[in-house]
Amino acid sequence: MSSIIQLLPDHVANQIAAGEVVQRPASVVKELMENSVDAGSTEIKLVVKDAGKTLIQVIDNGKGMSVTDARLCFERHATSKIRHAEDLFALGTKGFRGEALASIAAIAHVEMKTKQDQEELGTHIVIEGSKFVSQDVAVLPKGTSFSVKNLFFNIPARRNFLKSDTVEFRHVVDEFERVAMAHANIHFVLIHNGSEMFNLPVSNTRQRIVNIFGGRTNEKLVPVNETTEIVSINGFVCKPEFAKKNRGEQFFFVNDRFIKSAYLHHAVMAAYEGLLKDGTQPGYYLYLDVPPNTIDINIHPTKTEIKFDDEHALYAILRSAIKHSLGQFNVAPVLDFDRDTTLDTPYDYEKKDVGMPTIQVDSSFNPFADDSDDKPTQTFSGGGSRSSSSSSFSSSYSSPTFKKDKMPSWESLYNGLNTSTDEIAEISFESEEVTGSLFNDEEVEQTAHKTYQIHKKYIVSPIKSGMVIIDQKRAHQRVLYEQFLANITVQHGSSQQLLFPLTLHFNKSELGIIKEMKESLQNTGFVFDEFSDDHIVVSGLPVNVAESEVSILLEELLNDLEQEVPDTSFRQSDSIAKSMSRSLAVKTGVALNETEQETMVNAIFVCKEQKVSLYNKPTFITLNVEDLDK
Ligand code: ADP
Ligand code: MG
Repeated sequence: MSSIIQLLPDHVANQIAAGEVVQRPASVVKELMENSVDAGSTEIKLVVKDAGKTLIQVIDNGKGMSVTDARLCFERHATSKIRHAEDLFALGTKGFRGEALASIAAIAHVEMKTKQDQEELGTHIVIEGSKFVSQDVAVLPKGTSFSVKNLFFNIPARRNFLKSDTVEFRHVVDEFERVAMAHANIHFVLIHNGSEMFNLPVSNTRQRIVNIFGGRTNEKLVPVNETTEIVSINGFVCKPEFAKKNRGEQFFFVNDRFIKSAYLHHAVMAAYEGLLKDGTQPGYYLYLDVPPNTIDINIHPTKTEIKFDDEHALYAILRSAIKHSLGQFNVAPVLDFDRDTTLDTPYDYEKKDVGMPTIQVDSSFNPFADDSDDKPTQTFSGGGSRSSSSSSFSSSYSSPTFKKDKMPSWESLYNGLNTSTDEIAEISFESEEVTGSLFNDEEVEQTAHKTYQIHKKYIVSPIKSGMVIIDQKRAHQRVLYEQFLANITVQHGSSQQLLFPLTLHFNKSELGIIKEMKESLQNTGFVFDEFSDDHIVVSGLPVNVAESEVSILLEELLNDLEQEVPDTSFRQSDSIAKSMSRSLAVKTGVALNETEQETMVNAIFVCKEQKVSLYNKPTFITLNVEDLDK
């Protein structure tokens, strides 16, 4: 048989290599910006159209390339940055593999203009899908400009794989921010579809971070500085009270290169131990400098993962440096923010005289609800008057916003409900709480309502065939969801006008998502007065949203949409409705008064999809009389 192995032609090999290096427009942004940094530029401008799908242009004022280099740079394994394998262990540059430009040129239309400072004239090259189209001499400013157009023009499958412009642009911004954060001594500009998104003058690192993430970032930062033989650590961590539900702003730079490291992240989290509310994450911007020969950057084509010689020592140093900073900046006392004052009660009682217990009869008394007494009786018609009941739901906490955070991940609360009647059968009455009142004739009269709340989790109500057990949280989510969805899609979401408009701060990418969702949000009842660089002004809210709930509501919405902003307006509406109902629905562990319970029972049974929760779990189960007889 004849031999069958052949060497791949260069353009095919380049296309294959491109698959590793270039996943999306943001990858091109990263490679081109890093090249500009390596070229010693003091000014780098990124111009992007349609999230980079149409155009990515990087213009720098760096050292430029000679005529020969201008041609050579598009060859695979062509690099000016290393010569010998040993150089890999003394890297002072971002690049070294010499594949980026070859890869990019294999899958896009590329135009490059470059001139070295000492030369009169520069070089202008056009290359498309690895084929040189033209090369001219041209009058150019010092530095290099790359334009990359029609990315993946020759790989339709990959082009189709790209996400919506919003998502792709967020990736572009992420890469831009990472490079900009690592080099505060370089002036960076980002222009998207003709408008300037960032203009970051040369500054110190703190100012750079604030310029990127918005004015309020400054007050959140606690400096971290530690120098040892194996690493020097600089940068900032955020005060624990600013921790967020999403991982948002967490950055490690090693020798000025952004990297990801679950291990180092763990070290940071360990330093915050005991300081964070459940389920929240601190922001951090940490710059580690290590001797280049103690790391290996070459383990991943995009160079975002690296191997350290002595990971364990790094872990320990990082953790203690952060702990020290958090302690020094007196962050610890803030811990009290979440203290549950009800825990203090037993000690107060110690000092009290023993007295005859009195039973106060209250028409709204619910034997299974132990903190409902001070709650004003309110109808909550699913969504309609939710805002007023919500403030009473949170009355036992100092800040209503924190209440939701106290709940563990909501899904986990539910494990088990799927199961069966066995489990439900285990629910027993708490007899000491009901003694007295239940045996009082008058009281029996008054509390002979049709619903009971059990374990602040289930509402039980008799029905013709037996009884129904409703999961209060799932049911309320379902009720709110259907209302929100109807509001959004029928465009009748009514608003409550705020006396004093609210100013809410967000970073640029969060604002991008809100802008993208603006119309759907307006349909729910939001009224936006102003969209600026780092904040929005809200002057109207959906009727069922309380003022105190707005920021957590939007934070949770952004968290939900972080990975992907739905592209159709229907899916947007669905996501908003889901997220808002999840934020606003009454949680497990909240006592409901009689009226609220009854309203809930009525509301769930008029839902279109009454039986299943938003996440396909049962909202209620029924037990018929035979079941009960058994
Ligand atoms: P690497 O960065 O790994 O060396 P690249 O393919 O990204 O590989 O770039 C190849 C070479 O082209 C670089 O080593 C550098 O010499 C040159 N080069 C690329 N971009 C620029 C630029 N903006 N300014 C000057 N030289 C550049
Ligand atoms: Mg490079």
